[in-house]
Amino acid sequence: MDFRLSEDQRAIQAAARELARTEFAPHAAEYDRSHTFPRRNFELLAQGGYLGMTLPSRYGGRDADYLSYTLCVEAFSQACATTGVIFEVHNSLHSEAIYNHGSEAQRERFLPPLCRGERLGAYALTEPNAGSDAAAIQTTAVRAPGGWRLTGRKVFITNGGQADEYLVYASTSPDCGSHGITCFIVAQDTPGISFGPPLEKLGIRASATTDVILEDVFVPDDRVLGEVDEGYKIALRTLHGGRIGIAAQAVGILQESLDNAARYVLNHKEGEARLADRQTVQWHLAEMVTNLEAARLLLYRASWLHAQGIRATKEISMAKLFASRVAMEGTLRGVELLGGDGYRSDGPQERLMRDAKITEIYEGTSEVQRLVVARALLGEYQDGGGIPGARAEHRARSDSTRREDSPHYGAVGPS
Ligand SMILES: Cc1cc2nc3c(=O)[nH]c(=O)nc-3n(C[C@H](O)[C@H](O)[C@H](O)COP(=O)(O)OP(=O)(O)OC[C@H]3O[C@@H](n4cnc5c(N)ncnc54)[C@H](O)[C@@H]3O)c2cc1C
Repeated sequence: MDFRLSEDQRAIQAAARELARTEFAPHAAEYDRSHTFPRRNFELLAQGGYLGMTLPSRYGGRDADYLSYTLCVEAFSQACATTGVIFEVHNSLHSEAIYNHGSEAQRERFLPPLCRGERLGAYALTEPNAGSDAAAIQTTAVRAPGGWRLTGRKVFITNGGQADEYLVYASTSPDCGSHGITCFIVAQDTPGISFGPPLEKLGIRASATTDVILEDVFVPDDRVLGEVDEGYKIALRTLHGGRIGIAAQAVGILQESLDNAARYVLNHKEGEARLADRQTVQWHLAEMVTNLEAARLLLYRASWLHAQGIRATKEISMAKLFASRVAMEGTLRGVELLGGDGYRSDGPQERLMRDAKITEIYEGTSEVQRLVVARALLGEYQDGGGIPGARAEHRARSDSTRREDSPHYGAVGPS
């Protein structure tokens, strides 16, 4: 087993870190304070070739492997978690979904502008009564000549009001539950679509999170993504890459907290003794770095499995579950180790603590990740004749027993 990154991966990581250090980190606190959507960062991501980076170059992508993308989310989130999630939603939840499920005509039409940064993407699944139980959505799409008419309300939509294109999930066969949902590519300027004001939030404050309101919005047939009534599978499969992205965001936030804490205790004395020489301080650091490395290993393995086209539902959820938990815990340790400076809103650590919490909530809460992990695990025991830990590497995507096709996968769904 070789744990080293390839030369290409190291080069991409180094460039992403440099962009994050020189361009994103210096402005992150100000964007957060002023709740200003960091449009400039999005433009820099476009210029650097990071948008749609895992997509084939014929659509404007860069043919990068998934681990390279993960390394970028990690690096950007370390500097600015808001930029991390904007990047992640645009790439994983929007552009990749179009690549994976779109027709050739849709790929050619929608992907190049997304890769060039001319258009920003969003993912609109959640509704007031359908978050963890995403199959309960009530937004409807009714047949009309040449297309569909959408009516409903989406909530908590990242890039809301800022994005140019939204993947909107709506019920096309209301009696069929999760088997009657369709995905639509809806442009921001379509008549009948409007946006609520940006939500006031605990963290990632510069990322616009809004309601998306649809009032009799006409969407032509050529903007249906995938098959009619097959949208729920798209929503859930798309969350595979999405959850890898959120785990990477958590790892980036935790890395920055460790860096802050180590710098502080090396440079501060209590009397004559450096804080770094206190054993209890060292214990905190030891816990933080151990959790960080464990999270990173889960994350990189999940990314690798995903890149191979291997079904890794359980491994991806384990990475998100663990990385988000230790990020939250580690950012609190960071606040503690920096003492009063840790609590200052103009200090380096407080924002990280606030930003970490969302990684335990969006793209499936930690409870949902536990359900996904437990169901996948029990399925392995059942399907494997009681053999535990059936190796993920053997679960090819073509496997007809793919568990994510079940309404129980990912989001909670009805029993
Ligand atoms: C800042 C932010 C950005 C977001 N961005 C997007 C986006 O871009 N697109 C999008 O579609 N959505 C987005 N979301 C929505 C997000 O994915 C949901 O908030 C999340 O899935 C939880 O759903 P909910 O808020 O309805 O909580 P609920 O589902 O009501 O859950 C409330 C609590 O109950 C627990 N719970 C629920 N069901 C179960 C169960 N069966 N077993 C055990 N516990 C359970 C949950 O874990 C949680 O602790 C965003 C949310 C936020 C806050």
